[in-house]
Amino acid sequence: MTAFLARHGLRLSQSTLLAAYDCVTGNDPRLALAVAERDRAGEPISLDWLVGFRRGEGAQDELIAVTKLMERLERSLESFSHTTTAARSATNEYTLALRDQVDELQQGGDTGAMLADVLAIARTMIERTHEIERHMIRSEQETQALHRSLEETRRHAELDHLTGLPNRRAFEHRLDREVVAARAAGDPLCVAFCDIDRFKRINDTHGHDAGDRVLRAVACALNEISDERCHVARHGGEEFVVLFRGLALNEAYERLDETRDSLAERRMVNRATDVPFGKVTFSAGIANVFDYPQPREALKAADEALYVAKQDGRNRIVRATPQVRLISGPPKAA
Ligand code: GH3
Ligand code: MG
Ligand code: MG
Repeated sequence: MTAFLARHGLRLSQSTLLAAYDCVTGNDPRLALAVAERDRAGEPISLDWLVGFRRGEGAQDELIAVTKLMERLERSLESFSHTTTAARSATNEYTLALRDQVDELQQGGDTGAMLADVLAIARTMIERTHEIERHMIRSEQETQALHRSLEETRRHAELDHLTGLPNRRAFEHRLDREVVAARAAGDPLCVAFCDIDRFKRINDTHGHDAGDRVLRAVACALNEISDERCHVARHGGEEFVVLFRGLALNEAYERLDETRDSLAERRMVNRATDVPFGKVTFSAGIANVFDYPQPREALKAADEALYVAKQDGRNRIVRATPQVRLISGPPKAA
């Protein structure tokens, strides 16, 4: 395993060691195959690539779980449709048989024999109805179980597994809902993009696992301001997004700036080595969603304001103004 790490120039850490173990022992054949392919193509096996691959695998697992659920749902719908078709044809069948008997009864004849037939039909009909009812109850139970599994899968798919915060997908759903609710209530709505300063340096100095712990600590600090009108999510990498409903731009700025300030005051220590991380700070850009024709444009404006915050020296928050954006936006990302 150490040979694997040395061959790819990877530093020893929990995640690289696990990846090496999975490759060397064949514990993760997909990873081993992907590594062999990259080796063949002469492409490097970097830590970022390993992290990305593992994340992709997670997405793969989610996809498999969703596919399985869809199959169950299809089977359940099919069985439900069979039950209702059976119920409909049974009702038709018995209605016709009963009508024949009633017609014959009206025309006279062996009333005793005919009544016995009607009774037999009615009895069979009751039995079939009970059977159909049992099917319906089973279908309903299956539907309820499926509903719970779907809810669980949805929650899982909207959670960032490293920080426990909602992920980007959850945030996008939340943004859509909050825009509608804020517009209806006449509330202001602001969005902020936060990005940890010089995070690469933390990874390079202390290792990826320590970087993960810092990410969790920043997520936790940001999450302290979250409530039913303030939503914090991990947008990806070392970027977070915060949505404030009911606060004007300056108020939302103040709220976030308190978090920025108190984080910058803290001194975190790498508990694996006792080496201080130094000052961990973040920069942010914040925009008023309703200053823009589309919410996505407000996101872009907040992102551009974040860029300005980085340019201006980091550990600060910059308010986006639609006018400033028109005059001096940063170059568009390729
Ligand atoms: P800046 O102040 O300009 O934002 O500098 P930076 O170093 O933070 O920015 P850059 O985009 O160069 O680096 C971000 C780094 O974040 C690179 C990537 O390896 C790291 N990163 C992204 N996601 C994760 C993660 O889940 N865990 C860890 N440990 N690192 C991550
Ligand atoms: Mg970044
Ligand atoms: Mg950064």
